[in-house]
Amino acid sequence: MKKWNIDSAMEVFKLPFSDLLYEAQKTHRENFKPNSIQISTLLSIKTGSCPENCSYCPQSAHYNTGIKKSPLMELDDVVNAAKAAKAEGSTRFCMGAAWRGPRDEDLELVCQMVREVKAIGLETCVTLGLLKGNQAEKLADAGLDFYNHNIDSSPKYYEKIITTRTFEDRVETIEYVQNAGIKVCCGGIIGMGETNEDRVNMLVFLANMNMPPESVPINKLIKVPGTPLDGQPDVDPIDFVRTISLARIMMPSSYLRLSAGREQMSEELQSLCFLAGINSIFYGEKLLTANNASLDKDRLLFEKLGLQKMTY
Ligand code: SF4
Repeated sequence: MKKWNIDSAMEVFKLPFSDLLYEAQKTHRENFKPNSIQISTLLSIKTGSCPENCSYCPQSAHYNTGIKKSPLMELDDVVNAAKAAKAEGSTRFCMGAAWRGPRDEDLELVCQMVREVKAIGLETCVTLGLLKGNQAEKLADAGLDFYNHNIDSSPKYYEKIITTRTFEDRVETIEYVQNAGIKVCCGGIIGMGETNEDRVNMLVFLANMNMPPESVPINKLIKVPGTPLDGQPDVDPIDFVRTISLARIMMPSSYLRLSAGREQMSEELQSLCFLAGINSIFYGEKLLTANNASLDKDRLLFEKLGLQKMTY
């Protein structure tokens, strides 16, 4: 696997836009069916009161964002939501809990959720915060397919966004997850005030991991009133598409997921993102606590672009 550095990656990032898109699309076609999109559904299984201070997050207890908090969901409610997601064409069901990390007793219930969601024929993903090594193993024993743990930004910019844990804490959990044999879903957020160099450095970190993440979510900041990042200037859409193109070139066989912020994107911008190598999205009206693009809008866009839901 090619090792990248900031200079080689910046060189690609700065290519003339058409050349960059062409390279990304070529790489995409060499590794995936070009018109197939993997569909995931995300459910918040425990909402709010998180002790971490991620500056973008409405679920942090440090900010007053008025979100509706709720304790860990009941097993049956989660399974019913997963069945509904499957009926809408999702192949992966992601469950997110707003914790610094799970308590062992909560993890037991999450493991049960994983078993039952798998039993209805969906891939499973959870995002529960920092894990200990034995907790990663318990999730692997339950049959968990993916663990989501984003690095959010470049190692340098990370400390401007979160101070209650370090970039190294984050990486340690990713290592536990990989050692337990669970696939990693790891990406970041664009538009938090970082530079293009930070964006490229984040991708260099991901691409140079011993095993690059199988799944890479690219989020566009949702500016939530009450969080410190409300009021950030909009991301330049061309820079956003450049970041996705570079991610596709640097991580040719990873699924790239256009995640948060899609609701605010025009059809034209989303189409450019697909052209640049996006081949996964979240489907459903909600992304944890934020609104997502509506199902009807997505169906219409898929039809216009001739995109098919991936069925494996
Ligand atoms: S750890 Fe997760 S839920 Fe908690 S504040 Fe950060 S992003 Fe939000």
